[in-house]
Amino acid sequence: MEHHAQPGPKANTVAVIGAGVVGLCTALEAQRYGYQVTLFDRDTPGKGASFGNAGYLATELVAPLATPKTVAGALPMLLNPNGPLSLPLRYLHRSLPWLARFVKAALPGQVARGQQALTQLNQQAVKAWQQCLADIEASEILVQSGYLLVWESEKRLDEARRHADWLREQGIETELVQGERLAMLEPELAPVLSHALYFEQACQVSDPWHLCQRLAAAFQARGGHFIQQPVERLEPGDNSVTVHSKGEALGFDQAVVCAGAWSAQLLQGLGIKVPLEAERGYHLTYAADAVQLNHTIGSAERRMVMSALGSGIRVVGMTEFGGLTLAPLARGFRALSHHAQGLFPALSRPEVTASQWMGHRPTLPDSLPVIDRHPQHSGLLLCFGHQHLGLTQAAVSAQLVVSLMRQQAPEIDTRPFRLDRF
Ligand SMILES: Cc1cc2nc3c(=O)[nH]c(=O)nc-3n(C[C@H](O)[C@H](O)[C@H](O)COP(=O)(O)OP(=O)(O)OC[C@H]3O[C@@H](n4cnc5c(N)ncnc54)[C@H](O)[C@@H]3O)c2cc1C
Repeated sequence: MEHHAQPGPKANTVAVIGAGVVGLCTALEAQRYGYQVTLFDRDTPGKGASFGNAGYLATELVAPLATPKTVAGALPMLLNPNGPLSLPLRYLHRSLPWLARFVKAALPGQVARGQQALTQLNQQAVKAWQQCLADIEASEILVQSGYLLVWESEKRLDEARRHADWLREQGIETELVQGERLAMLEPELAPVLSHALYFEQACQVSDPWHLCQRLAAAFQARGGHFIQQPVERLEPGDNSVTVHSKGEALGFDQAVVCAGAWSAQLLQGLGIKVPLEAERGYHLTYAADAVQLNHTIGSAERRMVMSALGSGIRVVGMTEFGGLTLAPLARGFRALSHHAQGLFPALSRPEVTASQWMGHRPTLPDSLPVIDRHPQHSGLLLCFGHQHLGLTQAAVSAQLVVSLMRQQAPEIDTRPFRLDRF
């Protein structure tokens, strides 16, 4: 794929709505092909879900979130006070219909199709990031950190072996590590740890917020226009889209909706209904020296991820269906602190403190994003709904949606990501 500016196409102005990691990558990718791009966000770039994630390129997560196993395991998770699943009562009337669709998406045929589509995206994800970061001379942001998926219960050794076999079938090699080898890889992990799967090639970014700042700076340095204003409404016409923001109406040849968990609100104004939920996740960020962390760590039992980032040691987790307006709940932070201390006892010292954050993952019932051109409004493109994998898939999704923008065949079959699947 070429990565230098191309002669401007005839229809050449593009509005990108949303300056999260997906919108930033999309804006830069469109610039590479000579489009004149205006990026809108009501906030400074990268302050949505893209601000507080774990920075991990989780390419091994190719199973959709809805599977018979996750559906069967939901109730015990919900009943555990430190469990990863939370359904705030105040939002239950909204989350239940969505959860019904989620359960339907766990049918075996759907899961297999979803897995195939996610595999296609994830296989290209690191390469796409390498291209994007090399192009803006920021390759050092991508770090081969390695990933350790850990278990505490020795009784679950077979579970790890089965998972390793399943991963091998997907073309992902891991090493089962235990005892001294595990302690050598990660010396400050609690001694109760039994075993882990080691993904030596796995990558993370050095810091997700810093990444967004670098992407935004490159976009502006290349002549991109950033407008820090909320977009109230989109009005597609014949081969054009008008963006309404703060009483102004600005016309573009094409517009891409990259508004993360808020994308459904924008589309609703056009009479388009998308079952997009805000799947709320939490983080705690400790000082960089609170604990020594050599790899990105995931806990199979506690369902959380920890990573060493430029901004500190971050622990992320929780799946809370609480919508876009409810304030963060204390339970999420308490549970994360409990789990982080369980894995790293050094974090229980009284002087250790952490900053707190909650963000909205944009999640569709079948765990696949929407990457599409609107069937009726030809100037309107869509790129949102990347659930737990938005950082991982941002650069590859940007390549795909810009291929659609250019009316070129994308490198990956984008039919599974069409809007009309709902
Ligand atoms: C706790 C947590 C941990 C995570 N860890 C990882 C991880 O390790 N790896 C990974 O791959 N993914 C991870 N994710 C998921 C990832 O962060 C998201 O999928 C990704 O950030 C989504 O990016 P986005 O650009 O679509 O959305 P966002 O970053 O939310 O950006 C959307 C932007 O649109 C703007 N916007 C919305 N509506 C409007 C409007 N009307 N007008 C103007 N602007 C608007 C918002 O202000 C926002 O800036 C994690 C998520 C959470 C919550």
